[in-house]
Amino acid sequence: MNLSVKILIFMLVGAVVGVLFLQFGGYQCASDLSKAECQTIQQGSWAYTYFVEGLFNVGGSLFINALKMLMVPLVLVSLVCGVCSLADPSKLGRLSLKSIGLYLLTTAIALTLALTLASIFQPGIGMPVGDATFDASSKPPLTDVLINIVPTNPFEAMVKANMLQIIVFAILVGLAITLSGEQGKRIGNWFEDANKVVMELVNIVMKFAPYGVFFLIAKTFATFPFSDLAEGLGGYFALVIGGLILHALLTYSVLIAIFARLNPINFFKGMWPAMITAFGTSSSNATLPVTMRCAESNLGIHKNTFSFTLPLGATINMDGTAIMQGIATLFIAQAYGVDLSMAQLLTVVLTATLASIGTAGVPSVGLILLAGVLTQVNLPVEAIGMILGIDRLLDMTRTAVNITGDAAVTTIVAKSEGEIDIDTFNDTSNRSNFDD
Ligand code: ASP
Repeated sequence: MNLSVKILIFMLVGAVVGVLFLQFGGYQCASDLSKAECQTIQQGSWAYTYFVEGLFNVGGSLFINALKMLMVPLVLVSLVCGVCSLADPSKLGRLSLKSIGLYLLTTAIALTLALTLASIFQPGIGMPVGDATFDASSKPPLTDVLINIVPTNPFEAMVKANMLQIIVFAILVGLAITLSGEQGKRIGNWFEDANKVVMELVNIVMKFAPYGVFFLIAKTFATFPFSDLAEGLGGYFALVIGGLILHALLTYSVLIAIFARLNPINFFKGMWPAMITAFGTSSSNATLPVTMRCAESNLGIHKNTFSFTLPLGATINMDGTAIMQGIATLFIAQAYGVDLSMAQLLTVVLTATLASIGTAGVPSVGLILLAGVLTQVNLPVEAIGMILGIDRLLDMTRTAVNITGDAAVTTIVAKSEGEIDIDTFNDTSNRSNFDD
């Protein structure tokens, strides 16, 4: 069976199994118990111990670890190769300008959509504020992010998986290799060979993707507090999901159709495995090996474009996260009865767009970014506690949108540079076994 289809089926089965565990796993609570009492009972049950925290947790974590294990060698090696294969190094400047410009544009569109939806549907009106709490760890200022783009120690950058620093180092190494004549050629060949080996590693890990996705999704659904949705958060939840789907289907389709003149349906068919992996892992960074594999094998994009734009996008472009931030800010403002002025809404757009730069795509980081946005418009950061419980499913969905946005921009940039094989892009018949 085609791997994409298998991943999709395992995801759906995982969701069903998770919900069955939630319903019948021996930890249904009597209705007169408080939420906390209920949770204690649930977490002491055999189903929770052996399956949710046992099998699902271990299986899912192994898959995430395997993906993370690939991330640093893959980005380093493929980006060095990508830069070495650039016929004209000035192309790098163009690639950066185009991709950063489009990343900022898609994030601004996402935020505008989110603020519009939240103003129309007003999900926070009448929402009880309660005594929510949230502990926001502070984010470094933008100046520090800029200064730290150049690593003082490339090995430390790799050890800490600092994506922007690895990108800068890999580009410089790639450029130096192209300038180093005979010796450079030898090292370049070594990187080409290493790239082949790392790609095979990705193939090996990808074979386990259906099972990994199954475990991750079963665990999420088995522990998701669906009852919270009935207690006033349903509107917020539905609006964020609606905004994410709308942005993914509408904005990216239109951009790909207009700017790249390509069929968006083929784009989504090619990106499916990465979208589901992102959904399962809640991490753009961990999904990177799969995103890169889909871009190469399914979308026919050349390494010298995607090896730069995708790792960059995983770090600086978070459209899905921006949608959550836009809707959550207005939701909280509405719940607290605060009217945000036009200038404050613009502040939300600016802060949320800039906040994602330099923040790694890891689970729940969107909530920390949201703390920064709320502070800018004088809303209480503790209010994030209201939406914390149900954030996991939203995190999964927005991560899928985040990586789709990275791939959409990559497709447009690649097309404009003539770095995409249109036949591969359009050939959806032989997809995603990733064996070539
Ligand atoms: N988990 C998201 C990502 O990795 C970021 C977020 O929390 O919104 O892209």
